[in-house]
Amino acid sequence: MSSQIDLKFRFPRTVTFDDVLLVPQMSSIESRASIDISVNMKNVGKLSLPIVSSPMDTVTGSSMAGALGKRGVLSILHRYNTQNEQSTLLSTAKSAGARFTGAAVGVTGDFMQRVRSLVAMGVDVICLDIAHGHHTMMKAAIEQIRKEFSSLHIMAGNVATREAFEDLSDWGADSVRVGIGGGSICSTRIKTGHGVPTLQSVLDCAQSDRDAMIIADGGIRTSGDIVKALAAGADLVMLGSLLAGTDESPGEIIDVSEVVNGSQVYTKYKAYRGMASVEAQIDWRGHTSSVEGVSSKVPYKGPVSDSLNMIENGVRSGLSYTGANNIKHFQSKAKFIRQTNAGLQESKTHVHNL
Ligand code: IMP
Repeated sequence: MSSQIDLKFRFPRTVTFDDVLLVPQMSSIESRASIDISVNMKNVGKLSLPIVSSPMDTVTGSSMAGALGKRGVLSILHRYNTQNEQSTLLSTAKSAGARFTGAAVGVTGDFMQRVRSLVAMGVDVICLDIAHGHHTMMKAAIEQIRKEFSSLHIMAGNVATREAFEDLSDWGADSVRVGIGGGSICSTRIKTGHGVPTLQSVLDCAQSDRDAMIIADGGIRTSGDIVKALAAGADLVMLGSLLAGTDESPGEIIDVSEVVNGSQVYTKYKAYRGMASVEAQIDWRGHTSSVEGVSSKVPYKGPVSDSLNMIENGVRSGLSYTGANNIKHFQSKAKFIRQTNAGLQESKTHVHNL
């Protein structure tokens, strides 16, 4: 076998969220409230929580951006609309008092016009939002924006490898969305066979000496997953399903009446769909090309402030178990162990098995 073939068939062991746990360590923290979980974002400011909302049409419209931005949390307005519609989303979020708001654009078509108008309206972050971000078109788009706007925060992605993270950083991105194929509504791995478990991608990118921020994106289901992503080296965590289904996510509440174990049960849901699902593609461009997402629904969760409180409490508590005062301190101290499948069963609530 030639060495080229050897390399091609090398199978590194990878981990994702359920494969690992963080080991509790001695703590001197007397109150979780004293832990600093804010994040400084270049050319943007101090974010109050290490999270950012996904640019999806069932997650981030003006109401979500307004509610998050008022609390000092970053959001990325979705781009599946006309330039005018997206501008209206931004101005509505800013008039609702959002401190920070980002907006997504593509890398072709009218993207430069959108960037100019969004920047003129005071957008804080431009997110170059494509499925396979390690691409020559991404390089050209970042360079074009950078030429006109030297101090604009450019977020770019998505990527899955350290090599891609370093390229996007060298091309001029200030933050990079890391994660391919891990999203809860994503079928990229099934359709294309490509992807890397999200936590592994974050661990790999965190080995880099580049200073672009790492944004863990896809597959984050709980505050525990957020804590693990931060421990692995993420600066921020991008959330789709965790913020979908709230009052502030776009879309109506869907009432469903179903029979469960012989009883009639009424449940409230909201739609949550991948932007590469058939339904989303038909809605925003009238036809489908590569379908790599599904359309689904998530239980209705009430106001997004409840979800933010749950996330904030989980992250503060997570840092306290490692005995860390802030996120950088946490990243320097955190210790991962692998867990077995039996360990995973024990990690989940399992009172119904008793
Ligand atoms: P979640 O937080 O696990 O629900 O994943 C949300 C992430 O999935 C987004 O931030 C995107 O990176 C990704 N995503 C959104 N729509 C699609 C899709 O249709 N296919 C694949 N990935 C998607």
